[in-house]
Amino acid sequence: MTNQDTETYRDKVSTIDDEGKRIWVYPKKPKGSYTKAREILAFFLLLFLFGTPLIKINDQPLLLFDILNRKFIIFGLVFWPQDFHLFVLATLSLIVFIVLFTVVLGRLWCGWACPQTIFMEMVFRKIEYWIEGDARNQIALNKSPWTAKKIFKKSLKHTIFYIISFIIGNIFLAYILGVDELFRIMTDPPSEHIAGLSAMILFSGVFYGVFAFFREQVCTMVCPYGRLQGVLLDQNSIVVAYDFKRGEPKGRYTRNQKRENLGDCVDCKQCVEVCPTGIDIRNGTQLECINCTACIDACNSVMKKLKWPTGLIRYASYNGIMEGVKLRFTPRIAGYTSILLALLIITSFFLFGRSPVETTILRTPGLLYQETDEGNIANLYNLKIVNKTHNDRAIELKLKSPKGTIKLVGSDLLVPAGALVESAFFVEIPAKNIFVGQQSIYIEVFSGSELIDEIRSVDQNHLIIVVHTQLSV
Ligand code: SF4
Ligand code: SF4
Repeated sequence: MTNQDTETYRDKVSTIDDEGKRIWVYPKKPKGSYTKAREILAFFLLLFLFGTPLIKINDQPLLLFDILNRKFIIFGLVFWPQDFHLFVLATLSLIVFIVLFTVVLGRLWCGWACPQTIFMEMVFRKIEYWIEGDARNQIALNKSPWTAKKIFKKSLKHTIFYIISFIIGNIFLAYILGVDELFRIMTDPPSEHIAGLSAMILFSGVFYGVFAFFREQVCTMVCPYGRLQGVLLDQNSIVVAYDFKRGEPKGRYTRNQKRENLGDCVDCKQCVEVCPTGIDIRNGTQLECINCTACIDACNSVMKKLKWPTGLIRYASYNGIMEGVKLRFTPRIAGYTSILLALLIITSFFLFGRSPVETTILRTPGLLYQETDEGNIANLYNLKIVNKTHNDRAIELKLKSPKGTIKLVGSDLLVPAGALVESAFFVEIPAKNIFVGQQSIYIEVFSGSELIDEIRSVDQNHLIIVVHTQLSV
């Protein structure tokens, strides 16, 4: 939506000048009810982000994204590569949810819950205001010569920025490695954790670079979600919007002046001065707008001073402003909702139906059968057991048919909670019991007295494996 006849502002990014140089944004400190609400939400989200790696359920982390070992724990549920189908379904559901959410509520996520916005606006920017003052003071400081005071302020700011970046980097590592492993990296001799320490330094450096220098460019140039807004939003999407019907034609406010031919926008540019991405929302919905609501607060405070109704900039859709219509349940929304519901039902079905202990048996490749001294035919199998529960499991394999024995290579099978154990075993069958060249076998997997899995080589529908022993007489 736009109130301008020409849209030349769309030809370039607001923070890059005609020569392609960066225009540094000095947003004025926002104040108001929306900013307060965002501060409260940010506090709880930061608490969650920093506190979650420390929370354990049954000695397992609440959230873990161990990419290296391909093990994921989400709210206590353990996922392994064997659950890849769940990962695909959950990712599809998330994508459809994001699309639906954006179609209805625009970039609400960006303004209120995105970690980039929260860290930038609620942590780093606040420290900057505290050390260097509001926008005007920051501009003056940057233009001033390098005095002892300026060196002190800049050093203090960047030291604090790096320390916080280091903490953020470690928190992200804690989500990947687990807090115990992170503690080991910190306390063991550095030579034992070269990779871990390198990751720590790299993460800290990236976060410092992003929040000290790159800043809003992440949202306008890097973030794929931001780039998708053009195709996701439509005229019914609720976004931070300027009510051009009420505001135009804009004109400066003069005491006692009649505004018969003017709208309510007094062209004070307060909405522009607070914008952390350096845009003028009065031009219409733009790629750079992260829906941070700072301009709503700024404009509301101007309207309150003039004793005019607030909401000249507010959450609204284009159709809401043009026609005064509320949010409509459009066919597009109905379509995305149906797809999302279907995906959620399918994901739940697989999630709640999955086996707590999963066994995969594969015949060891490249090995022929062996004949033992007792007159048995033996084949070697590889075994993988994933224990997705919170209790250690002692596993026992029994050969149900044909008559024969299973001999484990190594000690008994004890699979710790949330862990994967690999082993191998021989299936030995008396040669007199084998009547065909390819003998199907049937193995039962027990945990204590509980039968937890059955593996039949003849069961073509078995999700894990079809075992062909290829025993020969
Ligand atoms: S236009 Fe308003 S909501 Fe959008 S980024 Fe700027 S201040 Fe935030
Ligand atoms: S803050 Fe409100 S009145 Fe001032 S320029 Fe922006 S839209 Fe117009």
